[in-house]
Amino acid sequence: MGDRPEFYRHEDDWLAIVERLKQTSCPHCHTVGTLVRHGTLTGFDDRAPPRITIRARRVYCSNRHRRRGCGRTFSVRLAHTIRRLSLTTRTLWRFLQRAVGAGLGSAIRDTDTPRSNRTLQRIWRRFDLGQSAIRTALLGRGPPPAVPAGPNRRPAAAHVLAHLRATFPHDDCPIAAFQQAMRASFI
Ligand SMILES: [Zn+2]
Repeated sequence: MGDRPEFYRHEDDWLAIVERLKQTSCPHCHTVGTLVRHGTLTGFDDRAPPRITIRARRVYCSNRHRRRGCGRTFSVRLAHTIRRLSLTTRTLWRFLQRAVGAGLGSAIRDTDTPRSNRTLQRIWRRFDLGQSAIRTALLGRGPPPAVPAGPNRRPAAAHVLAHLRATFPHDDCPIAAFQQAMRASFI
């Protein structure tokens, strides 16, 4: 991990990262003083109709003009994006909450983004497979809350979501907060 910024949330966060670039070491070659801004990565978002939006900023370890960088790049992703999916963290959070409460079938029927059943099932599977890694990361920041025995279809997953909510209680999007705080993709 080092001091490499993996995610940013707001434009101000990005500007702060840019200000520190000269003191930040390259995640590939660990040289300090060679990192420069290198444009953006864009993709479609989950609005209807989908619009092109910025997903990440790219940083380049410059080997031009006699700089001694390695010439490789890395991305600093916006915290509300999901790896390889156009879904936002907010939509994912709502979907997962419905899936643990009312069941996956119901969550798929109720989702407000135009996604195929197969895509949504695949998204659920990605979360399901990542649950223990998410739990481990959350335990590093505090114990899980006591979860009332509600009518949850998926008690283990409900517990993970409750733990996530409790870890970032004042955040309007706990998944984006997770990605920024842990410097890791949620799924
Ligand atoms: Zn480098």
